[in-house]
Order: sequence, then C-alpha cells, then structure tokens
Amino acid sequence: MPLRDDSGRIIGTFGISRDVTAQIQAEKALAHQALHDPLTGLPNRIALIDRLSQTLLAMERHPARVAVLFIDLDNFKEINDSYGHDAGDLVLAEAGRRLSALARRGDTVARLGGDEFVMLCGELESSGAALLIGDRIIHSIAAPYVVAGRDFSVTCSVGIAWTSDAATEPGNLIRDADMAMYEAKKAGRNRSQLYEPAHCSRAEKSVLHSELGRAIENSELFLVYQPLFALKERLVTGVEALVRWRHPSGAVLPPDKFIPFAEEHGLIGRLGSFVLDEACRQLAAWTARGSWAGAFTVAVNLSGRELLDPGLPGRVAEMVRRYGFHPAQLCLEITETALIAEVGDVQEILSALSAIGVRIALDDFGTGYSTLVYLQRLNADILKIDRSFVEPICRSSRDRAIVAAVTAMSHALGMTVVAEGVETSQQLATLTGLDCDEGQGLLFGAPLSPGAVVTLMETAQGAVRGLAPSAD
Ligand code: C2E
Ligand code: MG
Ligand code: MG
Repeated sequence: MPLRDDSGRIIGTFGISRDVTAQIQAEKALAHQALHDPLTGLPNRIALIDRLSQTLLAMERHPARVAVLFIDLDNFKEINDSYGHDAGDLVLAEAGRRLSALARRGDTVARLGGDEFVMLCGELESSGAALLIGDRIIHSIAAPYVVAGRDFSVTCSVGIAWTSDAATEPGNLIRDADMAMYEAKKAGRNRSQLYEPAHCSRAEKSVLHSELGRAIENSELFLVYQPLFALKERLVTGVEALVRWRHPSGAVLPPDKFIPFAEEHGLIGRLGSFVLDEACRQLAAWTARGSWAGAFTVAVNLSGRELLDPGLPGRVAEMVRRYGFHPAQLCLEITETALIAEVGDVQEILSALSAIGVRIALDDFGTGYSTLVYLQRLNADILKIDRSFVEPICRSSRDRAIVAAVTAMSHALGMTVVAEGVETSQQLATLTGLDCDEGQGLLFGAPLSPGAVVTLMETAQGAVRGLAPSAD
C-alpha cells in the first residue's frame, strides 16, 4: 500500500510479508514425491515418460538414437519371502545405486515399481552399444549384496528397445522393452534381449491363454492323421495323430502356433489328455470297422511336460482298457530334446509305459544330442529320423552316411527306423537302399481326416504300389 503525507504525496510503501519457506519446501517435497520413488530416490514412471518425451522431442532437431533398457530382477520374490521385506528393500536400493553408477550423464535411471527398473540412454552410437550397456547392467547387478551381515545374490533380465524415429510413442518404446525383457526371462533369465517386433504382446498372450483354454472345452481342437508306410512292403502300417486348432476366426492353426504356448502356460496337461483320448477313441472306432485295422497303429505326440506327470502311465493304461485295442497299437512319440530337458523321473515313467505294452518312439532324432548309450538306456521301440537329415539325403553323402549309421545302430538295438519328411521318390529309393524300415511324408500323403484314412485303407494298397519306382 502506498504511504502518503498530508498533501497526498507518496512517501513510502506499506506491506506485510509472510515467511513461506515451509510451504515452498512442502510443495517441492510433494512435487519430488510425485515424480520419484521414495525407496530408491529414483525418478518414477511419470518422470520417466516425461524425460523420454523430451528426449524424443529433441530428436526432431538433432537426429539421434535412444534406447530404453527394461530391467527386472530375477526371483526377487524369494529374497522378500525368505529374508523379509527389509532385506528386499535394501537390495532394491542397492540395485538402484548400481544402475545409477552405470548411467552416463544425461541418461535416466527410473524405478517403475516392484523390482522393475528402466534405464533411458540417449545419443547411442548403435543398437550394439545398447547391448553392451545391457551386459554391464547384468554384470553389475550380479555382484553380491551384503545386507545385515548376509550375502545375497540376484541376477536380472534386461529387455532393450531402441528407436531413431522422433515420432515414436514413449509408452510404446517402454512396452517393447518390457516385452523383450519377458523374452529374456523365457530364454532362461540373467541375460539381455533386444526387442524384435515379432514378440507377441502380453495382452495378446493373455487373449491366447483364455482362447486356448476355451478351445479345449469347445472342441475347437481336432486331430488329423498322417500315414506311415513300410518302405519295402509298400504298406500303410499306421498313422500319426497331429493336433490342429480350428480358431473361431476360421483359420486352422498348426501345433507350433499353440503347443509351445500351452506348455509354458500350464495348458498342456488338458490339451494332451484331449489328444490322447481322441486318438484312442478313433483307433478303437477304426479297429471295430475294418479288418485292415487289426495291426494298425496310431502314434500320439507327447510333450516333455506331459512326460513329467507321474499319472501318465495310469491314464494310458485306462485308455487301453476303456477302448479295448491291443496296447502295441498305440505308440507314444517323445522328442529327443524333451527327453534331454526333462531328465528326472522320465526313465521310470518310460519303463511304466513300456510295461503296459504301448510302443515308444523317439521323435525328431538328430535334432538333440542323443548318444548311442542314451538310446540303449531309453529302451525305445521306434526311432524317427528327423526330416533335416532326409531332405538332403540324395545330394549329401555325409547325411547318407549318418542315416546309414543310425539305422544300423537302431537295428542292432532292435528298433524300427522311420524316416520323416519323405517328399520325393529319389529320397524313398535312397532310404530303402539304406535299409530304413518305414517312411512318413508328403510323398505318401499329407495328414488326413479320419474319413480319408478309411478311404485310403480301403483303396490304399493299389495306390501305394503305384508309387513310381525311383530312377536311381
Ligand atoms: P512331428 O511329430 O515331427 O510331426 C511331423 C510334422 O512334420 C507334422 O507337422 C507334419 O505335418 C510334418 N510333415 C509331414 N510330412 C512332411 C513332409 O514331407 N515335409 C514337411 N516339410 N513336413 C512334413 P505338424 O502337424 O505341423 O506338427 C509339428 C509338430 O508339432 C510335430 O512334429 C509334433 O512335435 C508337434 N505336435 C503335433 N501334434 C501334437 C500333439 O498332439 N501333442 C504334442 N505334444 N505335440 C504335437
Ligand atoms: Mg511326432
Ligand atoms: Mg518328428
């Protein structure tokens, strides 16, 4: 307020001042709290998105490359559960410090919550540079943590996404890095993974989960049957059941689109039960129908996870009883890689299955690391040579030699040898010459509906004899 003398002239001012230090401090604290994580003092998600937006905006004027590294501690929950949240908090705070120490000037390290951190790196020379930073992070996080006199060790998985496009949505870049982190976890943790657009999103994954669960209940899954032929006799000996998914969109999905997913997400048990039951029911129906079906076999693929289920032999025995076919008419196919990955009690389960009288086939042989010794121990009845050996067999003497050796070895162990993926009559002739017993592949027939199998069997012998003899 102006202060005036008697004549009205301004001779001074009058004001009241208030000390607002405390208020400003409180406001600053609130603003800090709104943008920072209280435990580590690092910027939070809101602050991260703001900084990423600014970095991207700056790229409009100065072209550059920016990377988002999404870091998630592996098995962090175990520390919390075993040693309490205080220990967990100390590890998180220390992890935050280590990440900050790695960051260059201008980089941002943020904590998104839980055990998730993000490092934002601007001005990268290349995506390879981002991988190098990822390696340093993995190394630094893995160093021991000493909390209350105890040693802890934690590893982390890092997903990396980068862009040089200033128009990139900040949220999308973080989401892509998150997805790559998820892939790193899947690949075995303690590693970094660069984002590849092919990774399907978590949202898509959860849709797939509920869809596949429903597909099993709603009979959207069905089986097709691919014939197996005895090479010398030129006779159909049986079929392999292969699962398909008739998706409500109308598309028919092949197994590699959903079996790995079912294995990872706990759906393989239900899926496998459906396949086993359906194949056995079909086998019984064929056996009841045609004289040709007496010695006819149906092969069912088992995933490694199913093999770990101690209830499997009981279920198989129940199928044999319920449907009344001869146990040797059922063959269970197990891939070499599944056997190696799922060691444990597999041996016992395999013996229990053999005791029922069903046959065991080692599928995709040659794609894992099976040795002769291993083969002997497994006691399989059938060995299926992977099609990667069959495909080059006419042009590669090395592959011919491998198939010849594997066949001789299998015969010595009393096994039947089946060649997978036979597509040409030249391959057929070579395989016959190498003493291979049976074949499966497009040359003999693609997977068929159950009705088409009947037609094939009732008219087959002529068609099989009609296979053109090879020129060589
Ligand atoms: P697999 O057991 O080795 O089955 C053979 C695969 O090779 C089948 O593919 C078949 O369609 C394909 N194939 C047959 N002949 C030829 C040929 O001449 N050339 C070529 N290029 N391919 C040929 P499919 O049906 O896509 O099955 C792929 C894999 O999925 C199977 O490999 C098996 O490991 C798995 N699978 C299929 N059905 C089931 C199931 O019911 N349960 C489980 N756990 N796995 C299954
Ligand atoms: Mg198979
Ligand atoms: Mg196979």
